[in-house]
Amino acid sequence: MNVEELLDAQRRFFQSGATGSRQFRLQQLDLLARAIEQREGDVLAALKEDLGKCEFESYTSEIGFLYEELRFARKHLRRWMRVRRVPTPLLHAPATSRVYYRPHGVSAILAPWNYPFQLALAPVIAAIAAGNCVILKPSELAPATAGILDTLITETFPREYLSVVNGGPEVARQLTAAPVDHIFFTGSTAVGRQVMRAAADHLVPVTLELGGKSPAIVAADARVSVAAHRIAWGKFLNAGQTCVAPDYVCVHASVAEQFIREITAAVQKWYGGHPAASPDYGRIINEGHFQRLNDLLQRQRGFSREVVLLGSEPDRATRFVPPILCPGTTFADPIMEEEIFGPILPILVYQDFTDLMRTIAARPTPLAAYLFSESKSVQQQFVRNLPFGGATINDTIVHLVNAHLPFGGSGASGMGSYHGEAGFRGFSHAAAVMKRGTRFDPPLKYPPYGDRLAMIRRVMRR
Ligand code: NAD
Repeated sequence: MNVEELLDAQRRFFQSGATGSRQFRLQQLDLLARAIEQREGDVLAALKEDLGKCEFESYTSEIGFLYEELRFARKHLRRWMRVRRVPTPLLHAPATSRVYYRPHGVSAILAPWNYPFQLALAPVIAAIAAGNCVILKPSELAPATAGILDTLITETFPREYLSVVNGGPEVARQLTAAPVDHIFFTGSTAVGRQVMRAAADHLVPVTLELGGKSPAIVAADARVSVAAHRIAWGKFLNAGQTCVAPDYVCVHASVAEQFIREITAAVQKWYGGHPAASPDYGRIINEGHFQRLNDLLQRQRGFSREVVLLGSEPDRATRFVPPILCPGTTFADPIMEEEIFGPILPILVYQDFTDLMRTIAARPTPLAAYLFSESKSVQQQFVRNLPFGGATINDTIVHLVNAHLPFGGSGASGMGSYHGEAGFRGFSHAAAVMKRGTRFDPPLKYPPYGDRLAMIRRVMRR
């Protein structure tokens, strides 16, 4: 079936009302959980093939993450689906007012390659919980995982309910040009713009989960050793190919030397000085991205900046790029233009926290921001004044693993959010319904209005 035929079939299925009940949705969440469990080995192998990911990282950041989302959705679905009763202004009495959370219909979900299993299925969980049908397009750049996703969904669900279309940008464009009822896109800001343009033709609502340059800030009073470990972990996980990885770090001048010492020591301890030989260190997704990262390094060197490799030279054949530090970077350097999306960490030194906040706030809004400081007032200044999608104080990345928190960007890093209840709401339309009684029908609002305005004014301006 092509995209149009799938959409027709899914629309018919959706309109039959099959996805409406809580029982149906719970059953589908169970089916998905079981399908993942049965194929865990295949998923781990596919992630190894696509990204050289070790089992520990694949389990914690992809498979285990999905189990947690599934458990959370099953546990809370009754409350999320509840029709919400809200007050009605006296002027409209007698009446009751309610909010119904209704599925959009058929959702198109487009996934990226960096966490190719988790970022495809986490939105699918939210879509199922909210009662939608789904056409999922995995990333063509993680082909082994795309294959597993296809098998898993096709063998578990009827196509008119959940289906996978595989292919490159051409298929993605067909999908985003189709009159679906909602598009959920995770990927780059540049392609996000194209998705939104395509959606405008049919006025399809979009959720955009994009990227950006997420800063980490190490304040003068930070626990420097903890900051160095947690920043290195967030940056070098998945070889830096994480949307919420700290893209660059700004370190207060008084602790900059110590920070560089600590981060170097941490990386050496973790990978035994040879990340290329470590089973725990990932690889770059493909030749194109390997080349892009090499070009970034060349430009940085050409700019007379120091580049410190914490391991052997990059190796094209195995797409290995070691953890790399770029001390002495400034906001004007070429490396500060685009999201790095690789294991290269620019280190900028700052003197004044308020000035730094201003400089970062003037840049496109990042998906995530991180602050390391023990001071409540510094933490408050950071939370109140810095635009970001989400943040962690005194760690990196972990705000996204708490299903109680919404996850999403703002401005250039996206719109809308998901995970837990936010996912359910994002895949639902909040429909307002007011029900009026018919026993009385005071003529107040009907013409001729006569001299009622003064009285209405008093009531409405109360
Ligand atoms: P990408 O934008 O190149 O591709 C994402 C998806 O869009 C793929 O499935 C691709 O086939 C599809 N696509 C390609 N051209 C398209 C078009 N013209 N119209 C519609 N869809 C099209 O992104 P990527 O390289 O796979 O992922 C890396 C980017 O994603 C980084 O910027 C990263 O920060 C971001 N990201 C964001 C999140 C998040 O949760 N916010 C998560 C992971 C990655």
